[in-house]
Amino acid sequence: MNILVINCGSSSLKYQLIDSETEKVLAKGLCERIGIDGALTHQPAGKDKIKTTPAMPDHTVAIQLVLEQLTDPENGVVKSLDEISAVGHRVVHGGEKFTSSCIITDEVIKEIEACNVFAPLHNPACLIGINACKELMPNLPMVAVFDTAFHQTMPAKAYLYAIPYKYYEKYGVRRYGFHGTSHQYVSAKAAEILGKKPEDLKIIVCHLGNGASLSAVKYGKCVDTSMGLTPLEGLVMGTRSGDLDPAILEFIANQENLTLSEVMNILNKESGVAGLSGVSSDFRDVRAAAEDNEIAANALEVHRYRVAKYIGAYAAAMNGVDAIAFTAGLGENDSESRAVISEYLGYLGAKIDPERNDVRGEDAIISTDDSKVALLCVPTNEELMIARNTAALV
Ligand code: AMP
Repeated sequence: MNILVINCGSSSLKYQLIDSETEKVLAKGLCERIGIDGALTHQPAGKDKIKTTPAMPDHTVAIQLVLEQLTDPENGVVKSLDEISAVGHRVVHGGEKFTSSCIITDEVIKEIEACNVFAPLHNPACLIGINACKELMPNLPMVAVFDTAFHQTMPAKAYLYAIPYKYYEKYGVRRYGFHGTSHQYVSAKAAEILGKKPEDLKIIVCHLGNGASLSAVKYGKCVDTSMGLTPLEGLVMGTRSGDLDPAILEFIANQENLTLSEVMNILNKESGVAGLSGVSSDFRDVRAAAEDNEIAANALEVHRYRVAKYIGAYAAAMNGVDAIAFTAGLGENDSESRAVISEYLGYLGAKIDPERNDVRGEDAIISTDDSKVALLCVPTNEELMIARNTAALV
């Protein structure tokens, strides 16, 4: 069956039409500048991208345009909307309510709305996409796939913060974790590449993109992850600080006469390798600059060192590790980062093979045959995971 996968941002919308039997992408595309002027890039499988700039006042119009492209006699991939069996929506925050994907009902929409406080930029955009699809295709089953769901198996010792317990009880302040669809896909794929079952392995997934998070996946279940109540905690990211002493917030606010919101904005948008290097949030730019710029070189080291520290923590949390998988923009493409991070892991008996590590964007074992821990490069595929979960539920 054909599944339409929708990933909505506040002014953008990514889509893929996936045949769930063959797992082939029939078409994919992107609507940008929704509510501003509008730009649509549509790409049927095996053909060139088609770029248009139709008026796109809101998400409903954007989705209408996507459906027109998918059924277009020339550039379309299906004859009519009857050939689409279901829609799978990526939803960023499902709180504690959603431990797995679910069919979208009015009740589910209300529950997603209740999670808006945790993801005020992301969840409302997901809901706009859901409501727009509901309006345009009222009889089609829809499924919500949550970024947080895979992490709901974490034990209390991993998800509780050491602050007064009443804040957890009253407001749900706890670790939720994100990128769950990616961590789920990559941990399962790593096991498949190794010819083993996820239930037999302790795996650390390093999702290293512009946003970055690690997860400890023990026997197929997530037991810890580095992002927290929000996607700000944990690793050093493109523009996000990751972990820091919470007292820094008040210190900077006092020194610079800023409000708490302004400091939060700095931690989310002006920190990470961008803030540290002063060069860019794009790791390729920082790497190029690092050749003759010590500050940029330090920024890369801080990033890699933090990843290595978390790997150590998760090896301890699981009392061992069988496999470490690198994924997302940097993890899939940057062999140098993978090599430097792996150098920290000698005590685990992990040995990277420089020749095998010379890969970009493909499934590969990159450790030596005698490495005690398997190191892997595994391109993530969140859209396929959303299509699989959607097909399974409808
Ligand atoms: P993502 O958020 O998964 O799309 O990842 C985006 C990040 O991946 C950007 O910061 C890119 O700099 C980084 N990236 C993509 N390709 C490469 C590469 N070949 N080398 C280093 N970083 C890369």
